[in-house]
Amino acid sequence: MKLEILPSTFERDGAAARRQHLTTLVIDDMVAIDAGSLAVGCTERQRQTIRDVVISHAHLDHVAGLPLFVDDLFATLEEPVRVYAAAEVIAVLEEHIFNWSVYPRFSELENDFGPVLRYTMFTPGREFELKGYTILPIEVNHKVPSCGFIINDGSATIALTGDTAPTEVFWERVNGLDRLDAVLVECAFPDELNDLALTSHHLTPKVLAQEIEKLDRTDCEILITNIKPAYRDQVCSELAALKMDRLDVIRVGRQYSWFGADLRVSR
Ligand SMILES: [Zn+2]
Repeated sequence: MKLEILPSTFERDGAAARRQHLTTLVIDDMVAIDAGSLAVGCTERQRQTIRDVVISHAHLDHVAGLPLFVDDLFATLEEPVRVYAAAEVIAVLEEHIFNWSVYPRFSELENDFGPVLRYTMFTPGREFELKGYTILPIEVNHKVPSCGFIINDGSATIALTGDTAPTEVFWERVNGLDRLDAVLVECAFPDELNDLALTSHHLTPKVLAQEIEKLDRTDCEILITNIKPAYRDQVCSELAALKMDRLDVIRVGRQYSWFGADLRVSR
């Protein structure tokens, strides 16, 4: 399994910036998890290969790129962009984004080949199959209905929390897995903004450390995602102070790969 995080913004010289304003993770150039930066951060090749988009929740930093992605491809899509989400999230997308006022309701439109956007509703706690991947959505503790995911491709398994405050079921399910190659955990705010983190249902490094204590297993790497760009340096130094060897901040431009058996490689 190959994973990368798409860039959200670019420096003046065109190089991808490290700051994560928007969230999109891409698996094997085929499946996007969230679509915050999908239209602006994907490669031209990925624009042609990604047709499946799994959405954790409807906050703008996780969905902003979806309408633009479909729009960019509208005339050329030979198959629809398939959006997988919980019922509440699909309802929010249709009511507040694809509502003809903010953007066209693509789910009602067709091009010369047929529909351009299709929804598939998933139920938290129930696995679904997608192009050879088994995906288990798990409800987490965010301000709005939101899911983390456990994703298995038949050999490697990763888990990601998405946006969340302290949560329980996610860790129980992760601890029950036969194998886990990596867990991606959010950490939005620095410790001094603990009140804001509590209000907005996010983690700080100190609370993240308590979350990691719920993880029974020592066989996986821990990648930190969703650091608010304004606090990136502070959060990174507070994470470094935790002195956890297997913990790293996920990096734009780096490709993470995990294979079956013991052939785990991360470059
Ligand atoms: Zn959120």
